[in-house]
Amino acid sequence: MRIVVCVKHVPDVQSERSFGPDDRLSRGEDDVLNELDENAVEAAMVLVEEYGGEVVALTVGPEDAAGSLRKALQLGAASAVHVLDDAAAGSDVVGTAAVLAAAVRSIGSEAPVDLVVTGMAALDGMTSMVPGALAATLGLPALTLAAELSVEDGTVRARRDVGEVGEVLEAELPALVSVTDQANEPRYPNFKAIMAAKKKPVTQVTLEDLGVDPAAVGAAGSRTRVVDVQVRPPREPGPVLVDAGEAGLALAGFLAERKLV
Ligand SMILES: Cc1cc2nc3c(=O)[nH]c(=O)nc-3n(C[C@H](O)[C@H](O)[C@H](O)COP(=O)(O)OP(=O)(O)OC[C@H]3O[C@@H](n4cnc5c(N)ncnc54)[C@H](O)[C@@H]3O)c2cc1C
Repeated sequence: MRIVVCVKHVPDVQSERSFGPDDRLSRGEDDVLNELDENAVEAAMVLVEEYGGEVVALTVGPEDAAGSLRKALQLGAASAVHVLDDAAAGSDVVGTAAVLAAAVRSIGSEAPVDLVVTGMAALDGMTSMVPGALAATLGLPALTLAAELSVEDGTVRARRDVGEVGEVLEAELPALVSVTDQANEPRYPNFKAIMAAKKKPVTQVTLEDLGVDPAAVGAAGSRTRVVDVQVRPPREPGPVLVDAGEAGLALAGFLAERKLV
């Protein structure tokens, strides 16, 4: 099986976030592989370990997104493709999907791609819409939010949990699947994997290489734009109950008032 896994380079969720003059999230050196995309790489690796083949990691991102590709290679991907082009910066969902689709087609021109795997959401933009938009652009069936994934006889099968209900979907390959953080436990790369990743090939491509019109993507081509951004106000400190023998009653009253008991 030949599987393309889409991985995004995002600000670390633990880091202090800031916004630039264009109201877009500032990107920095501390950015990391989107944690939820580790589940995507793991899902692809499990399939390749079962059926053979290879995983190609793909990102659209700035120069330091190479760090996220390197991590994907440490997690087992055989090679990586980095779409690196200033004109792609600021792409919205449609623009991102257009660039990713062109890159998947380009990877597929070398040898057919059976499956595209994405994470369930990027922890910065967090729309969870890229997988659907990418599948639509590529004309592939989309099995989104898979909590379980398997492939048999050219058919991919995914279990998704919708509230109290579990659904099982299937589609013929080639297809696109987005996986949740319930799908698996991503592996930790060992020393050997870290060293091996250094030798794996990473191909840089531009929009021109992919035949994508720069005016149709990036900030220039985006159909959505951030018009305002506000830092969430700090939370008000809660009341402190000092126990002088009545704190239990006061606590029960506090919870009852808020209909919490
Ligand atoms: C309200 C809003 C605010 C935004 N703010 C900013 C901002 O501050 N700064 C900024 O630069 N952009 C911003 N964007 C753009 C946003 O980052 C893009 O829309 C983004 O490329 C796609 O959306 P997402 O991050 O929600 O991805 P999601 O749809 O949540 O991602 C799902 C999966 O798609 C794959 N994927 C997504 N993006 C990529 C990628 N680039 N490369 C490889 N795989 C990918 C990953 O597997 C990921 O797990 C904003 C967009 C919106 C709608």
